[in-house]
Amino acid sequence: MSSRTYVGLGANLGGDLLATLTQAVRALSALPGTRLVAVSSAWRSAPLDASGPDFLNAVVGLDTTLPPIELLDALQAIEQAHGRERPYRNAPRTLDLDLLLYGDAVLGTPRLTLPHPRLGERAFVLRPLLEIAPELAPLATCRGWQAQRIERSGPIPI
Ligand code: AMP
Repeated sequence: MSSRTYVGLGANLGGDLLATLTQAVRALSALPGTRLVAVSSAWRSAPLDASGPDFLNAVVGLDTTLPPIELLDALQAIEQAHGRERPYRNAPRTLDLDLLLYGDAVLGTPRLTLPHPRLGERAFVLRPLLEIAPELAPLATCRGWQAQRIERSGPIPI
């Protein structure tokens, strides 16, 4: 049986950010047992609790038979393939992939928290997520997110 899951993508280093996001979406849709069901626009956002240039963000919806931890392993493998380094917390990154929601799973383990703990307060997650899944609007728990600087940049050419 497959579960509907949402993955957040962000990039702010390494040149062509749209190409990075596009390659990552293709890699996600090629995962075993996984089907791409929705892709948001690319959104340009100011760094929040992070340094460096603006981010390009997106969210995809996937139906997958991969269990949550295997999906997280796969996300981290895709991050590594894009040369992500973690010299310090919230360092600029070439590619960041977050598991936002996995069905209605609620999980609090050292490696994986579901739903993603900061999902409801970040415009760079909520704008693209609500673009493809407006029924998830109740997840926007903190009003401040609407003041965060973000703009639609354009479609992701899948
Ligand atoms: P970050 O550096 O912000 O990408 O955080 C990555 C770390 O967060 C990894 O060590 C993951 O094991 C952990 N983590 C916990 N919950 C999640 C989640 N829902 N999605 C992605 N990473 C998560």
